Amino acid sequence: MRIFPTEESAIEWFEAIYWPEERCCGHCGSTRTTKVKSGKPMPYHCSDCHKYFSVKTGTAMADSKISLRWAIGIYLCLTSLKSVSSMKLHRDLKIGQKAA
Ligand SMILES: [Zn+2]
Repeated sequence: MRIFPTEESAIEWFEAIYWPEERCCGHCGSTRTTKVKSGKPMPYHCSDCHKYFSVKTGTAMADSKISLRWAIGIYLCLTSLKSVSSMKLHRDLKIGQKAA
């Protein structure tokens, strides 16, 4: 929880991992992109394909409505010796059990 205290901190972390050198469009791969002022949930615009995108575009979590803090759940699943129950994820991440 210290790594991702807020949604913004989780987004910044994902962007640094996903785009280590330069941000690129999740639709066409172009690096000719710009940040838009009020672009939530799609904060970037591609100058080549003219579509909006976020760090989730083109990933398995693209259609997910839950917070990027789900990375904490992935971390727990990968580092736990035993499995992590959906109830624990539900409680710790404050997301629905079905999403967990
Ligand atoms: Zn594009």
